Formats: sequence, C-alpha cells, structure tokens
Amino acid sequence: MRLKDKVALVTGGSRGIGKAVAQGLAGEGAKVAIIYKGSKEAAEALAGEIISQGGQALALQADVADYNRAKAVVEEVEKALGPVDILVNNAGMIHDDLFVRLEPEQWNQVLQTNLGGTFNFCHAVAFSMLRRRAGRIINVSSVAADYVNPGQTNYSASKGAVNSFTRSLAVELASRGVTVNAVAPGFIETDMSAAVRNKAGDLIKKFIPMRRFGQPEDIAKVVLFLAGPDSSYITGQVITIDGGLSLGAASG
Ligand code: NAP
Repeated sequence: MRLKDKVALVTGGSRGIGKAVAQGLAGEGAKVAIIYKGSKEAAEALAGEIISQGGQALALQADVADYNRAKAVVEEVEKALGPVDILVNNAGMIHDDLFVRLEPEQWNQVLQTNLGGTFNFCHAVAFSMLRRRAGRIINVSSVAADYVNPGQTNYSASKGAVNSFTRSLAVELASRGVTVNAVAPGFIETDMSAAVRNKAGDLIKKFIPMRRFGQPEDIAKVVLFLAGPDSSYITGQVITIDGGLSLGAASG
C-alpha cells in the first residue's frame, strides 16, 4: 500500500472521477475525506463502503466556492483524520452557452467553482503542508483549457486558469517538498459528459485515436501516481489523459 495512513481530501468525491479517485486512494491505504455539494447519500455510501473494507473515510458537505467553508472543512478533516497530505481539487461544473447568451451568473458560478474552489482548498492546506515540508496537490483540469469548443468560454477560461495556477503555485511550494500538478482529462464517461456523449458520441469518437471514451479509473490511476512516492520529482505539470484526442488527428 503506497499511501498507508496518508490523509487525502477529494473535492467532488461523491461521483464520477472524484469517486474513482477516492476509491483508489483508499485502496492504497489513505484515509479519505470525501467532499460533496449535494450528493449526500452517494458520498456517505462511498465513505461507508471504504470503512466496510477496513479503511478510514468521512463525508463532509461543502460548496467549494465558499472560502470560509473550505477552511472549516479542512479543520474538521484535520481533527478527525489528521493533517491533509494529499489534496485533490476535483469538484467542477459546466454551464455551457454561446457567449452572447451567457449570463454573468453562468460565468461567475463556473469560475468560482472550478477556479475559486481550487484556490480555496489550496489556501486551506498550503501553510500546513509548507510547515510539514511535504504534500501533494493535484488539480483536475481539462483538455478544454487548450482545445476549445463553442459554448464553453466560461469552462475553458476556468480550466486554463487552473493550469496557470498549478504552475505558479508549484514554483512557490517546490523548495518545501510540496508538489502541485494537474491532470487534464478528455472525454470521460461521467454525468458531466453524458449530454454531449448522448448527442454526438459516435462523431466525437472519430476524433479520439483510441476510439473510446475514458473511464473515471483512467484518471484516478494518474492521480494516484501523482499522489504517491514515485512522482516526487514532478511538479508544475499538466498531464493530459485523453486517448490521444488533443493530438488533433481527425480520422474516419
Ligand atoms: P460529475 O460527474 O458531474 O461530478 C462532479 C462532482 O463535482 C460531483 O461530485 C459534485 O458534487 C462536485 N461538485 C460540483 N460543484 C461543486 C461545488 N460547488 N462544491 C462541491 N462539489 C461540487 O463530473 P466529473 O466528470 O466527475 O468531473 C470531475 C472533474 O473532472 C471536474 O473538475 C471536471 O471539470 C473534470 N473533467 C471532466 C471531464 C469529463 O469528460 N467528465 C473532462 C475533463 C475534465 P455533488 O454530486 O455533491 O453535487
């Protein structure tokens, strides 16, 4: 077990990619705090599943966009499980619309969740990680940061900013043994991508050299690597996991 007794916090751990990450971390022996916004039952069921398998887990409610709540949640986790060794900023949302139709509320909500939430939780753990001279931060970005689609100005801006933030923070924390990296998924089979997959799945697959959508576990495995001892000399990187989608080789 590569992460025995490490304390991990996963935002958006109730379902999708975050759930697979939480399961993977627990499977490697980490104690896992699962942060959810609305999916209380799913988050508590996942915590129960981890505990029934002999692990340690707890589920806590927070809107990641709420700075004070992020601080409070980290304090609760520290009291219950110990200081956070691994932070996975996974919580994210889309609210797509063509720019001329986009309401300021759609812009603000997506930026405050995807970028603001990442800032809030990094801020809540960074000082303690610096003091302990150890820590792993993994931000979940998207290929949409660089390979853009109509209707996603808010989402692409948020993920592009997450990538820049990842690199900047990595530079600040590197000398104290804290690494900061990001993963950039392509199309992964979760609730978030369901509408577009249902509408244009066959067409999209033509642009994915591997001809399949990714599974949450495809992302979780890379997050586990970045959270573990084998990646200790990697920081400030954004690792793309997309079956080759971003290579841009359309074929029939
Ligand atoms: P998902 O299935 O829609 O799950 C989203 C998760 O984020 C849920 O656990 C949700 O919690 C949580 N969440 C959303 N807003 C939140 C908030 N304000 N506060 C706290 N938690 C919040 O999405 P997913 O596909 O697993 O996405 C996970 C991450 O991967 C996101 O950052 C997304 O941008 C990124 N990503 C996904 C894909 C893809 O194809 N699926 C591609 C590239 C990047 P509740 O259920 O409790 O509301």
